[in-house]
Amino acid sequence: MRIDKKVFLLILILISACAPKADSPAPAPTDSLAPTSTAEPTSAPQPTPTLEATATPAPLLERPQYALDVTLDYDAHALRVDETIYYPNHSGSPLNELVLAIVPNLWEGGFSLTAISVGGEAAANYALDGQRLDLALPAALPAGGVVEIKIQYALTLPFAEQEDPNVARPRIYGYTSRQINLVNWYPFVVPYVNGEWLLHDAWYYGENLVYDAADYEVNLRFADSANAPVVAASGIAEAQPDGATRYAIESARAFALSASREFQSASLQVGDATLTSYYFGLYQEAGQAALQTTAQALQIFSAKFGAYPHKSLAIVMGDFNDGMEYSAFYYLSKDFYNLYDGTPANYLTFVAAHETAHQWWFEQVGNDQALQPWLDEALSTYSERLYYENVSPDLVSWWQTYRMDFYNPSGFADIPIYEGQGFRPYTNAVYFQGARFLDALRQRIGDEAFFAFLQDYLNQKRGQIATADDFFRLLRTHTNTDYSDLVAQYYRGAYP
Ligand SMILES: [Zn+2]
Repeated sequence: MRIDKKVFLLILILISACAPKADSPAPAPTDSLAPTSTAEPTSAPQPTPTLEATATPAPLLERPQYALDVTLDYDAHALRVDETIYYPNHSGSPLNELVLAIVPNLWEGGFSLTAISVGGEAAANYALDGQRLDLALPAALPAGGVVEIKIQYALTLPFAEQEDPNVARPRIYGYTSRQINLVNWYPFVVPYVNGEWLLHDAWYYGENLVYDAADYEVNLRFADSANAPVVAASGIAEAQPDGATRYAIESARAFALSASREFQSASLQVGDATLTSYYFGLYQEAGQAALQTTAQALQIFSAKFGAYPHKSLAIVMGDFNDGMEYSAFYYLSKDFYNLYDGTPANYLTFVAAHETAHQWWFEQVGNDQALQPWLDEALSTYSERLYYENVSPDLVSWWQTYRMDFYNPSGFADIPIYEGQGFRPYTNAVYFQGARFLDALRQRIGDEAFFAFLQDYLNQKRGQIATADDFFRLLRTHTNTDYSDLVAQYYRGAYP
């Protein structure tokens, strides 16, 4: 329903693309230089108005929109998808091409393209190489324009059961004997920042992708609807008359979905958000603990940082060995459920708090996860401490010792994922040295300035992709205290 309304609005925008709307902001001065920008209020809609190289001062879509019609064959580990993208050009200059990430194509035979069109015409000029699709536009997409891309494809999921328990990080995408995990599973337009498409090489830890905030609507049906699994997904679910389930979420970074016939679930309401914990049978106690921890963390972080933006949050037991954040959705490893001892002094609790914090640092304030991973990881790790301070203050020193000091972390916090010589040295530097910096900073500048800064950082960068420069530039505005020695100790880069 929501998308339909948006598409309708979009059509209105496209039809009136040549006529500045009365309530739109004044056109930028450069628009008047365009020879074809003369208003023609009565002009008829063009077949592909999005691609006209005319100035378009009319307001565009605030964010990209993704509509995915999915048929999932759970037993065959395969999907068919009809995807429609409306991509607004916010770059300020015309775009001649788009770059999409198609991560499933990293697996041999994992992605089969059936058809791709741009503005209603079959795409004539594109190249798919690994996870990167270069899509030439048949005509320049003007600043302020919106282009429609339709992609039909099939996915064959890889087997993702953990074969080597010593592997530091899993590949989440794929299926196990009891679960299907769809993460980074649909083609998406990667962020265009400073004239560059941000699509970094895949890496062992994952987390190399950068996401624009976008609106999603996913219509899901099962090939064997009589034997459908339980589904955890980003966004609010709504049963459709035709038997499909529609999931919708706005201003989201990454739509994830997990399905299992063995899922049990428990829910809790926090404010206007419904939290649901999905766990395999026999893990009810740990599943409940993950739910309770998440509810507490959500309240603490809402008070400390700012409101949680979504109406749902799925906490999903994952058949692999770590946690991972997506939009209104996160995974917790089965290992944490196995180790759970009924107390808050364990990995299940602090990783749940960590992944919940990513709903602020990742989901709301995005960052380049490949090149500046500390921006979300250090803040989410430090948020674990904030959780304990507020819920179990007696456990703060235990957390400090067991979670971080045990590993004797060293190194600079601001390394990319591609450095660090392994997952442990990498997390020591990015997560733990980064969290240590935040703690030292907080002690130096005081709680008032520290939390005022975090709230300001959230407010100013919400829905955007923040950089280390943004972080330090905003921090500087909240204190006159000198912290340059701390920056020099924990960072190798020079920051304002
Ligand atoms: Zn994290």
